[in-house]
Amino acid sequence: MSWDPQEQYNIERWSDSFFDVNDDGHLCVLPFQDKNELQIPISKVVEEIKLQGLKLPVVIRFHDILRAQVRKLNLAFQEAIKELDYHGQYRGVYPIKVNQMREVVEEIVEAGAEFDYGLEAGSKPEILAALAYNTNLNSLTILNGYKDRDYMRLALLGVKMGRKCLVVIENFSELNLLLEVSREQNIRPLIGLRLKLSSESRGKWASSSGENAKFGLSILEIIKCINILKNEDMLDCLKLLHFHMGSQIADIKTIKEAIIEGARVYAKIAKMGINIEYLDAGGGLAIDYDGSRSTRDSSRNYRLDEYAMDLVLSIKQICDDEKVAHPHIVTESGRAITAHHSCVVTNVIDIKKKHHEDFERKAQESDHYLLQNMRSTLEELNISNCQEMLNDAKQIKNESMQAFKLGILELDEQAAIENIYWQVVDQISELLKQKEFIPDDLRELEQSRAKQYLCNFSVFQSAADIWAIDQVLPIMPLQKLNEEPKEDCKLCDISCDSDGQIKQFLGPEGLSETIKLHKITNDVPYHIGIFLTGAYQDVMGVMHNLFGRLHEVHVYADKDDESGFYIDEAITGGTAGDVLSTMQYNPSNMAQVIKKEIDKNIKAGHIQARMGVKHIDFYENCLKQYTYLDSQN
Ligand SMILES: *Cc1c(COP(=O)(O)O)cnc(C)c1O
Repeated sequence: MSWDPQEQYNIERWSDSFFDVNDDGHLCVLPFQDKNELQIPISKVVEEIKLQGLKLPVVIRFHDILRAQVRKLNLAFQEAIKELDYHGQYRGVYPIKVNQMREVVEEIVEAGAEFDYGLEAGSKPEILAALAYNTNLNSLTILNGYKDRDYMRLALLGVKMGRKCLVVIENFSELNLLLEVSREQNIRPLIGLRLKLSSESRGKWASSSGENAKFGLSILEIIKCINILKNEDMLDCLKLLHFHMGSQIADIKTIKEAIIEGARVYAKIAKMGINIEYLDAGGGLAIDYDGSRSTRDSSRNYRLDEYAMDLVLSIKQICDDEKVAHPHIVTESGRAITAHHSCVVTNVIDIKKKHHEDFERKAQESDHYLLQNMRSTLEELNISNCQEMLNDAKQIKNESMQAFKLGILELDEQAAIENIYWQVVDQISELLKQKEFIPDDLRELEQSRAKQYLCNFSVFQSAADIWAIDQVLPIMPLQKLNEEPKEDCKLCDISCDSDGQIKQFLGPEGLSETIKLHKITNDVPYHIGIFLTGAYQDVMGVMHNLFGRLHEVHVYADKDDESGFYIDEAITGGTAGDVLSTMQYNPSNMAQVIKKEIDKNIKAGHIQARMGVKHIDFYENCLKQYTYLDSQN
């Protein structure tokens, strides 16, 4: 039976056809979702990054994937609209908060131009960005989040410039503020109302909907808003009904329930003779991070075309039933647009192992009997007594720890006992491969003997959701994929925090606590990719341990280029000085302190003058360096 990297790392399930393994065993990005069109080995991109003088870890952005996702979303809705003979249009917007990087927003706006795809903002900085970047007069700018006077003024500034800037009232009191500012500015606003859904969604963001949600108006408050607008003679300003179920909705049933409720409220409002035009179903379109196609939090049980069809069909049926015109449909998908386009590449810098083959301690007659017993366990071990020998070895290990604490064992005896214990464990694990049935005890053994691969990155900076909400992200090596990996591993980051580990991986049999990786040698680089980091992860990282932002490169496919791609832009990540400054340190003062101190030592004759200057330069240089570990690999 031959080993298959596809199966081992579940690539087909999570990659959405954007990633695949080539004949040389390298993981490739397929910018056009077609193996025959173009494959770019990610290792090649890493090589070029290194040639440009950047070190790992690094974020790689594939702009073609962003463009492809924007097209796919818009085409899915166009298709559904055509097929179901729906009379409205699709007018999607990209929510900036999901990945606010300028280059990301720019690319999305550009790719979406032909579809009049717009932007969504949820804060003042985001509306400032939306006003400057969404210049298409036909696309929407949807303004969510809590708002103050200046937020309203900015929205009306957009309207003055001829943009479709819709202010979504999240909170009843915002309506009066908006009306006040619009009188002050003498301009009629475009108004949306956010409906608080009664149907609660499931999953990690369930609190975005339901009676106690933080955002949105109850039906009663919606009626009150309509009455206020009527009294002000501004009913024609009401243009949109919005709702949002939360992010990463795994179950299509939840989406259907929400859309049925939202469409019904929309239709009733339209029936009041109000010329409301847009129904905005918010975000929630999920990503199948774990490839299980299930209703697990990190998955989804539907496809994009199904999502579009369900939305369009439900809205059509309800509006036809209520005999009102079909609205233009808005969605605010962020995760689905951005997740695939970026990945983090890190290098393994060390391996923590338990059994050290190179530790030798010759048997001596004077050896303590515990050590002698551990040795006999190893010698007697065979396929038929694995469980018995494991029990013995465990017991000897426990007893020896007690004995050591009581001063009965010497340091080197204790070391030898532990080393032989792990050798027993390794051999049992080898023997088990010949067995059909493996008892639970022995299964757990596999986990306990896992090697810890130390990777040059910080979970807190680069994959915050792994730490914060147990998000599962696809992780796999970028090379050697034509060779079966035999090591069971756990991944640790370089932060000084025991939470800085990855404990969930996708395996051939679902989630696993370990990942299969290759044996590695110090002289050959071994790169690991963390995938689907483009949504939220990219921008939510925190500087725990003062590990700063990663270097970042923007990659474009180019079929005419020899290697099939080019790096459009390389942005250097944070230096030690940068991150210290954000925490209010003053790097140049710090360098001064060191200089003074060294000068003192020079005067006192503890440090040679020539060396002293070098030490000072060295300290200053380190302030200018990347915050991650510098390694040849
Ligand atoms: C966060 C958010 C989104 C984006 O949701 P995704 O699930 O990432 O698509 C859309 N709309 C609103 C109001 C949001 O708060």
